[in-house]
Amino acid sequence: MTLSEFDIIRRYFTAAGARRDDVAVGIGDDAAVVNVPAGQQLVLATDTLVNGVHFPEDTPAEHIGYKALAVNLSDLAAMGAEPAWATLALTAPRNDPAWLAAFADGFSELARAAGVQLIGGDTTRGPLTVTVEVHGFVPRGEAVLRGGARVGDVVYVSGTLGDAALALRRWREGLGVASQAERRIAARLHRPEPRIDAGLALRGLAHAMIDVSDGLAADLGHILAASGVGATVTIEDLPLSDAFLEVAATLHEERAAEFALTGGDDYELCFTVASAHCAEVERRLAALGCACRAIGVIDEAAGLRVRDRQGAAVMLERGGYDHFAGAQ
Ligand code: ADP
Ligand code: MG
Repeated sequence: MTLSEFDIIRRYFTAAGARRDDVAVGIGDDAAVVNVPAGQQLVLATDTLVNGVHFPEDTPAEHIGYKALAVNLSDLAAMGAEPAWATLALTAPRNDPAWLAAFADGFSELARAAGVQLIGGDTTRGPLTVTVEVHGFVPRGEAVLRGGARVGDVVYVSGTLGDAALALRRWREGLGVASQAERRIAARLHRPEPRIDAGLALRGLAHAMIDVSDGLAADLGHILAASGVGATVTIEDLPLSDAFLEVAATLHEERAAEFALTGGDDYELCFTVASAHCAEVERRLAALGCACRAIGVIDEAAGLRVRDRQGAAVMLERGGYDHFAGAQ
């Protein structure tokens, strides 16, 4: 079956995601028209996934569609923004109906769950690349930025760290997914859960926030640089899942916590909170079923210090992921 660009759009994308009353003109005109609620600011984020770079080449289409939206919603979550709309620029090598249907299903499943309507995009032929832009809002002046951390704040992270990076390492080493623990960490890699509700609950409480996409050490480093502060983190306090620990043991990974500190793709939230507000933060996130853990404190001296419980410095051998590091 040969599908034209217009067939593809009509068949797979016109009805993708939620239906929203604030969309005046959706897919089908030259551009979309939406109504931004009075008193709110528009928050925009865009992220591109490239085949073989951001997901393994043999990743099922459904996971690619899901993840392309998830990583963008994670950026909105880290601003404390409520997602509303998305656009999708899809470059694919073939008009493969089964692939497109699965891709659209994965995208649409998360879009509906998050209340996001797909309002436009672009469809082209070429090496598989997916760019999503998401749009959401925050009440004026209430976006949670990277630059607000203050000395004395407690550093928190949601969920657990390292699962996705460990799953990616197994895939790179050509190892399959068999045990339940391996399936669990593979799901963290392919279907990260954007912490939208947690991000909203932290608005007005977190001083600074970022989502962990390149590894906690690198991403917390962005908060520190933007805020002009430093932090000391206790390595034993990093939240690690049972599945992570089980798989790390089978790989004879002796520095599992360090791996989790520098591994990317978790899409958890890292945020800082005044110590007087910690109990309120823990209560709000627990009510949402979102685990969180205090892992350190913000201090004056620039940079990130990692210590063990005895206070000894832990030297990091690995950095976060930088796409251009080592590139010509
Ligand atoms: P134009 O040539 O004017 O840019 P297009 O033919 O690219 O228009 O797109 C037609 C309509 O379909 C537009 O509303 C556009 O936003 C939408 N669209 C195109 N590709 C996608 C896609 N992959 N996902 C969602 N909407 C799409
Ligand atoms: Mg176009």
